[in-house]
Amino acid sequence: MISLLRISALLAAITFAAPVQAQQPYDGPIFDAHLHYNWEPTPHYNVEQVFELLKKNNVRGILATSRPNTGTVALMEAKQTDIWVVPFIRQYKTRADIPTWFRDDSIYEMTLTEFKRGYYRGVGEFHIYGKAAGTEGAAKLVKFAVENDLYIHAHCDVEALELLYSHDKRARIIWAHTGFSTPAAELKALFAKYPSLMGELSFRGGITEYDGKLTEDWKDLFTKHSDRFLLGTDTWITPRWLQYDALISGYRAWLGQLPKERAQRIAFGNAERLFRSEKK
Ligand SMILES: [Zn+2]
Repeated sequence: MISLLRISALLAAITFAAPVQAQQPYDGPIFDAHLHYNWEPTPHYNVEQVFELLKKNNVRGILATSRPNTGTVALMEAKQTDIWVVPFIRQYKTRADIPTWFRDDSIYEMTLTEFKRGYYRGVGEFHIYGKAAGTEGAAKLVKFAVENDLYIHAHCDVEALELLYSHDKRARIIWAHTGFSTPAAELKALFAKYPSLMGELSFRGGITEYDGKLTEDWKDLFTKHSDRFLLGTDTWITPRWLQYDALISGYRAWLGQLPKERAQRIAFGNAERLFRSEKK
């Protein structure tokens, strides 16, 4: 019995002594650049609970959107000062608008009306794929964004991304999910071609190995392009709210494997550069 205990103590000591990728997680502030506070069908948390959750995770800023825009307006009207809210105008009143918004004049009208509130910094997140991004409705929204100094938060494939830029090269696009699985070499080419393009990383595959270690591709992308990425949780359905703590700690784990200044840039600094330095 004693020898068994000794063996297990010895094993435990070996386990603790083993080099288990001992980097500390990044513990600084985070900007969540993909937060939906949807009120349709119903909000999962009330406004106070949302802010509590963010504070608990040291999420100090959010790119906020909602379906309909009522949720974002409620966050703005809370007039709290702990969390920096950067509101974007969403093109959806209900989920049914997702595949049709760019063919629906009433959605464009809603965007114009919403814009009059005066505090919005962007449009989106909207979904668009392939040739649909070349249509008049999509072009109209891109032009509206450029004319009014608004960012564009687009969930799209590469073909649609390039078509969105074709309407006006001055567009500033935050690419939701960074293409999900677009290969690293293609991402580099897109970053070179479109200097304003930013990649938001929710649901993005390939960043880490099964053991949580950054892959070589992504270590390289974060080394060369740490100024082009933003973090996001994409709270599009209730289960994502329930996973919020885990999503943020997942980001903190791989950020901890990067040099501090790069981690800080991806976690918060890039959002500051985009949203604080210009139009108030
Ligand atoms: Zn989303």
